[in-house]
Amino acid sequence: MNEQPKPNKKPFIYYALIAMLVLMLLNAFVFPMLGGPHVTEVSYDEFQTMLKNDQVTHVEMQENRQELYFKAKNEKGIERVYSTGTFPDPALKEELDSKGIKYAVAVPQKNSMLMEFLFTWVFPTLIMTLPMVFLWRMMRKRMGDGSNMMSFGMGKSNAKMYVAAQTGKTFADVAGQEEAKEALEEIVDFLHSPDKYRSVGAVMPKGVLLVGPPGTGKTLLAKAVAGEANVPFFSIAGSEFVEMFVGQGAARVRDLFRQAKEKAPCIVFIDEIDTIGKKRDGSGIGGNDEREQTLNQLLSEMDGFDGSSGVVLLAATNRPETLDKALLRPGRFDRRVPVELPDLQGREAILRVHAKDVMMAEDIDYKAVARATSGASGAELANLINEAALRAVKCNRRIVTQEDLTESVDVVVAGYQRKNAVLTPHEKEIVAYHEIGHALVAAKQTNSAPVTKITIVPRTSGALGYTMQTPESDTVLLSKEEALAKIATLTGGRSAEELVFGSITSGASNDIEQATKMARSMVTRLGMSETFDMTALETVNNQYLGGDASLACSAQTATQIDHEVVEIIRAAHEKAIGILKDNMDKLHELAQYLLEKETITGEEFMEILQR
Ligand code: ADP
Ligand code: MG
Ligand code: ZN
Repeated sequence: MNEQPKPNKKPFIYYALIAMLVLMLLNAFVFPMLGGPHVTEVSYDEFQTMLKNDQVTHVEMQENRQELYFKAKNEKGIERVYSTGTFPDPALKEELDSKGIKYAVAVPQKNSMLMEFLFTWVFPTLIMTLPMVFLWRMMRKRMGDGSNMMSFGMGKSNAKMYVAAQTGKTFADVAGQEEAKEALEEIVDFLHSPDKYRSVGAVMPKGVLLVGPPGTGKTLLAKAVAGEANVPFFSIAGSEFVEMFVGQGAARVRDLFRQAKEKAPCIVFIDEIDTIGKKRDGSGIGGNDEREQTLNQLLSEMDGFDGSSGVVLLAATNRPETLDKALLRPGRFDRRVPVELPDLQGREAILRVHAKDVMMAEDIDYKAVARATSGASGAELANLINEAALRAVKCNRRIVTQEDLTESVDVVVAGYQRKNAVLTPHEKEIVAYHEIGHALVAAKQTNSAPVTKITIVPRTSGALGYTMQTPESDTVLLSKEEALAKIATLTGGRSAEELVFGSITSGASNDIEQATKMARSMVTRLGMSETFDMTALETVNNQYLGGDASLACSAQTATQIDHEVVEIIRAAHEKAIGILKDNMDKLHELAQYLLEKETITGEEFMEILQR
């Protein structure tokens, strides 16, 4: 990516001040100890005595300062340096002349004070500052972005400055998501020609919240808006606000908005806003203060600019229900753009967008791949293309083929192929009958999606094999018949084991879990049972992240629900057993075929079935 964080420059003066301080300490404590030649102070009388005794060898006088340095030998003939206070003594020079002692008169420099200051303070400071700047830079690099350190830049937001041309993303990079794009195009238009809106008196929404499950392209969309509008793009993740010292979060928000207002028109993007925007519940002893302060600052900053200022606030989250109500109020994030998982067409478009950067064979059937990846997010599809490219490289090919893609579907949908699975031949046979059991029950029901692939090649995900069914088109509504057919299909694997081997294995655990979930939601949420009619007995906490549900009914009703669920599954199981009993010969034939081939396609399956 071409994002270019603005270097967080510390003013030069900071380094200079530090250097100065160090120098002062050195001057005061360290240099004197190292000391130059030691100078012994003596009285003027002593000097004269030494002079008389011919001990003095060299004299240096300083004209205006009443001070005098001289070298003299002691009794052992060792020369040392002495100093003594003096006064203008005209007789001294004559005496020295007569004794033939060399002397020098130091003429004091006019600017001596200034020079001295320059040499002892200014130049050393400068010389020391440069390596310090260098060292600091190195340290910062080492520590990542050292903004968490006790540094001079405390409270400076780490918002990265993106130069418009450098986000490099446009709406063309975002496939599918037509509705989201349409909603955001208005904002792009506003940033292009704000006057058009101002003249009518229309005010742009201040904040737009992109809502949707992970990997659907929310971050990508925000970047595309900036790229399309050709304006600066500030982006910061919600988590970056809260990981700092107390009080830092609020300071960061303030700083971020200050920068943004300077650069308007521009876009401020807060990714994963749920980390700071969580409901303020007032619980928790003290612990939430920091986040709350940050949120309050954000709220007041949002109130502080109006829609015409040219700052557009975008935010993304996959947990909209956890957001504080105050954030969603009119005048704040008052527009919500859903970014949902792609449908069949969307998936195909996303595959094509990402295939552009890869050498693909010409006859790729993207639609088939899109069909097989129902429920995959944009990020997963991007990963799928990459897996296919990796596989092509592994096979020493320069072009990605359809087979690479289908293999990668398996990788994305069901985990990597396990290289050396240890299954006994008998276990393998059980798995084959189990999978054909699923497929047969599916094929013999009218409300069931066609089987497209059956495999007994184990996956690292733990599945020993699987039967893939892909609906002809993406259906939004699930009918009661379809739901029941699905449950019967799920019980088909275990049913085949029972009929053929007379015993059962643990291989059906995942089927059991799925069937139970399905039956349960039929009863508690979809109003598909006789007993409870259209009563909602469960509430879904989060529709995007897995959809945890919690019961909302009395204990008595809960018991009844359990009964109902068991009944649905028992009926489906009986139905599956019936279907398989009627088609015993096909079950054997298909299972043996699968055992031999390990993987068979939907066409092969149907052909044998209809023989
Ligand atoms: P989110 O922020 O919703 O979790 P991202 O925007 O980070 O998802 O998407 C991750 C990656 O997945 C993107 O960089 C892109 O490569 C791919 N991607 C997701 N959605 C799309 C899409 N609609 N079109 C093209 N690529 C997509
Ligand atoms: Mg994201
Ligand atoms: Zn199964």
